[in-house]
Amino acid sequence: MPRIIPISAHTQPPPALLRVAQEDLQGPLLDQRQRPLRDLRISVTDRCNFRCTYCMPKEVFGKDYAFLAQSELLSFEEIVQIARVFVERGVNKIRLTGGEPLLRKHLDVLIGMLKQLTDAGGKPITLALTTNGALLTKKAVQLKEAGLDRLTVSLDALDDGIFKTLNDVDFPVQEVLDGIQAAHEAGFEKIKINMVVKRGVNDQEVVPMARYFKDSPHILRFIEYMDVGNSNGWKLDEVLPAELLLQGLAEAGMPVTPLAAHHTSETASRWQHQGGGEIGLISSVSHAFCSQCSRARLSTQGKLYTCLFANEGVDLRAILRDPDKQNSSEEMGLLLRQTLHATWHARTDRYSEMRAENTHFPTQERRKIEMSYIGG
Ligand code: SAM
Ligand code: SF4
Ligand code: SF4
Repeated sequence: MPRIIPISAHTQPPPALLRVAQEDLQGPLLDQRQRPLRDLRISVTDRCNFRCTYCMPKEVFGKDYAFLAQSELLSFEEIVQIARVFVERGVNKIRLTGGEPLLRKHLDVLIGMLKQLTDAGGKPITLALTTNGALLTKKAVQLKEAGLDRLTVSLDALDDGIFKTLNDVDFPVQEVLDGIQAAHEAGFEKIKINMVVKRGVNDQEVVPMARYFKDSPHILRFIEYMDVGNSNGWKLDEVLPAELLLQGLAEAGMPVTPLAAHHTSETASRWQHQGGGEIGLISSVSHAFCSQCSRARLSTQGKLYTCLFANEGVDLRAILRDPDKQNSSEEMGLLLRQTLHATWHARTDRYSEMRAENTHFPTQERRKIEMSYIGG
C-alpha cells in the first residue's frame, strides 16, 4: 500500500525572514521563468464524500484515515487574510476546492467574504468552485446568492455502473445530473463539466459524454489522468492522450475544430463541435503547459504550494498563528507579503515538462502532496 506522508512533513519554514525591500512588495510579481501570479486555488477541506479511485482510493483513505481536526483548518478569517495578500500581488481569480468543498460548513459565508476582495485595478475578483456535484441540488441557490461566479462539476461517466466504480461510494450519476440542472436553474448558465479519462476504465464514456453535452450550454472538458499524489498508482499507459481522444470523437461522427484561447494561461485548449457547443482538453501529460502556469495553491492547513506536484509547502498559517505576533496585524500582513514575494519570486516549477522530457521519469519515487489537500 502506498505510504501517505503527513502534510506537516512537507512543510518548510517560511522564507519570509529573507528581507524583501518594501518597494518590491508592490506591483506584479514574477517567478524565475517570468510567470505572473494570477490564480489561487484554496482547498477548504481535506474530506470528501466520494472515494474516486484516482484521487482518494479507499485502501488509503479508509475508515481509519486521520483527517485534519477542525482546529487545523484555516478559519474563514485566515483564508481571507491570506487571499487579500495574493490579490494585492496579481491574483484575479480564486477557485475553492478540496476534498469536496461543499462539505465545508457555511461555505456561502466564505464566498460572501471573498467576494468583497477587489484586484489591483479595483475590479471584483472572479470566484469559482469545483465540486463533485453530490450536494449541488441542495446548495446551488445558496452558492449563487452568496456571489459565486463560476461552477465546475466533475463527472467521469454517464453509465451508472462505471460512475459508481469510479466514485467507489455507490453514488448514482442521476443525482449529479440533477445537481447540474439545479445549478443551471439557479443561474449558473455555462457550467464546466470535468471528466478525468482513465484508459481501460472510463474511456468508453468519452463519446456518450460528448454527445450528451454537445447541445447543452455547458462545456465538457476532458482531463488526462495525472500522477498527482502518491496513492493512485499512476501508470503512463492509463493516460488517453488528447490526440487519440480527438480521433475517437471524429470516428464517432463528432469532429471538433480548434478555437482561439481566451487568454495565454488557460489550462484547457478549446474546441468546437460542428454547428454546436464547445469542449475543452486539459492535456497536462501529453502537452505540458508549465510555461504558462500562473497558479498557486493554498492547502486546507494553510500551506502555500507553487505546483500541483510539489512535495513541500510554505506554512502561512504559522505566520497567522504565531503567538508573538497576535497583537500586530500590520506585522503579520508584512510577513505574509514577504513570504509570498520570496516564495513566488524563487519559483522554478516545471514538473509536467520534466515528465514529458523524460519517459523514464521517476514519478512514483518523488513524494508529492495529495490532491485532496490542495485541490485540482
Ligand atoms: N471534490 C471536488 C471534485 O471532485 O470536483 C474538488 C476537488 S478534486 C481534487 C478537483 C479535480 O481534480 C476534479 O475535477 C478531479 O476529477 C480532478 N482530479 C483528481 N485526481 C485526478 C487525477 N489523478 N488526474 C486528473 N485529475 C484529477
Ligand atoms: Fe473527492 Fe474530488 Fe477527489 Fe473525487 S476527485 S475523491 S470527489 S476530492
Ligand atoms: Fe503548473 Fe506544476 Fe502543473 Fe507545471 S506541473 S503546469 S508548474 S502545476
